[in-house]
Amino acid sequence: MAYHDALTGLPGRRALKEALLKLDRQYTVAMVDIDHFKKFNDWYGHDVGDHVLCMVASKLARVTGGGKGFRYGGEEFTVIFPCSLLDVIPHVERLRKTIETSEFILRGPERPKKKPENPATIKKSQRSVSVTVSIGVAERDDRHNTPLEVIKAADNALYRAKGYGRNQVST
Ligand code: GH3
Ligand code: MG
Ligand code: MG
Repeated sequence: MAYHDALTGLPGRRALKEALLKLDRQYTVAMVDIDHFKKFNDWYGHDVGDHVLCMVASKLARVTGGGKGFRYGGEEFTVIFPCSLLDVIPHVERLRKTIETSEFILRGPERPKKKPENPATIKKSQRSVSVTVSIGVAERDDRHNTPLEVIKAADNALYRAKGYGRNQVST
């Protein structure tokens, strides 16, 4: 198992396992899952899906608040923050918004090979798609004492964020 994920360059599952062993008493886990990602692959193809994954990963690599991002697997990512859940919320909100407002331009057959003389035609020939993520967060506390329990709690919160309509943060 590679330390860094080959597609996105983010630290992968093995790196996450190691990081979980080094945690202090106070930490918060965010589980990040791309919304309706299956449709991306179905509509635009697996290569575009891969590009979307890389775009989302690049935002995760630059998450604020001292968080460290990992590719958990598939279209799911994990961020570990060395602070309380309350401190983490503005940073995961910012991450969610950054991804929502990132223009993702399709490099399909419509993309012009030559630079168009009239720049106004660029817009027509580039289709941008929007990508959103749902995020579940949980911190270590008396109820969730081990890293696996905290991840499970964050995963349950993620499930709620999906249920509430996606593109949101849930605790
Ligand atoms: P939801 O909003 O509920 O999360 O829906 P979803 O479609 O994102 O979730 P689902 O679990 O149904 O689909 C996940 C998809 O992610 C299915 C799988 O083909 C795709 N996927 C997983 N890993 C990769 C990858 O490395 N590259 C690409 N292109 N697709 C991937
Ligand atoms: Mg998923
Ligand atoms: Mg998904």
